Amino acid sequence: ERVVSQSAYAEDDAAENSIRPLDFSQYIGQKKVKDNLEVFIEAAKMREESLDHVLLYGPPGLGKTTLAMIIAGEMGVHIRTTSGPAIERPGDLAAVLTALEPGDVLFIDEIHRLPRSVEEVLYPAMEDFCIDIIIGKESTARSVRLDLPPFTLIGATTRAGMLSSPLRDRFGVHARLEYYEEEDLSRIVTRSGDMMGVAVEDDAAREMARRSRGTPRVANRLLRRVRDFAQVKGTDRISLNEADSALENLHVDKLGLDDIDHQLLNTIITTFRGGPVGVEAVAAAIGEEANTLEDVYEPYLMQIGFLVRTPRGRMVTPHVYEHLHLEVPGRE
Ligand code: ADP
Repeated sequence: ERVVSQSAYAEDDAAENSIRPLDFSQYIGQKKVKDNLEVFIEAAKMREESLDHVLLYGPPGLGKTTLAMIIAGEMGVHIRTTSGPAIERPGDLAAVLTALEPGDVLFIDEIHRLPRSVEEVLYPAMEDFCIDIIIGKESTARSVRLDLPPFTLIGATTRAGMLSSPLRDRFGVHARLEYYEEEDLSRIVTRSGDMMGVAVEDDAAREMARRSRGTPRVANRLLRRVRDFAQVKGTDRISLNEADSALENLHVDKLGLDDIDHQLLNTIITTFRGGPVGVEAVAAAIGEEANTLEDVYEPYLMQIGFLVRTPRGRMVTPHVYEHLHLEVPGRE
């Protein structure tokens, strides 16, 4: 389990729930998204209507689930949470939908993973607040229309491009979450520290922020690990020194890269002369699936400009050589 993973592990759940922001005032950053949503929520409340369906997209750990909960809270309604892979059959979705109360939020995480047959039930539900269910078998089967209470669907996905267009088009609000600035992550670390009962000095918070890959989930996880080190040393105050040495022990470098990132970059440099090299070849060399490489390992390295995709394959950039203290090839 990588300490810098943007995806949640089982251990994250309880820890995250206890420090989750509960309203917009506690939700740090993402100003554009927040400002818009606040207007839409206010307007829906003035009209006494349910909020339009909202599609949240962006990499894991940026606060999509948190935002869905905040939206429900601000609307003053219940939230029911499920995920694409958890809804296997149309009947599963029908059961969830018919249990909603007027105005409720239904949050579907990883909505791009809904089976197609389930997705089709969602269309009339989103558009006309009704579903057609089949009763009886074979020759006696007939379709019955059931009315649903008005509700708000909030869908979350890591890639909007993976959503079918009929589904995407049925969301009235599309909000894209961005990676966080160091400043915002630093505030998140400080806030989380407060809630966990540890004082984090400003430069220490900033150091953790810098190594968090633009991602609150990673920032919070680093903070928990650094706190472990501090606690064992018998202090509840985290200084820059403390943070630095803990992060070094965790093998998280100055840019938030871990051993796996280093291995990947070193493999491209030593085995493939820096690229371009096909993703399959890199995956084989480090003993990973090509999909995992593309979905998990590469995005952050591309985000920081360490890796580029070219028509002939992956290439490392000169930044990598500088960061790893290697001589840039071709530069005397
Ligand atoms: P996602 O659903 O996008 O994977 P989550 O909503 O589960 O991400 O957020 C992951 C963690 O990061 C949670 O602990 C949450 O409290 C924290 N977090 C996310 N966004 C923010 C934010 N804007 N301000 C403060 N904490 C945040």
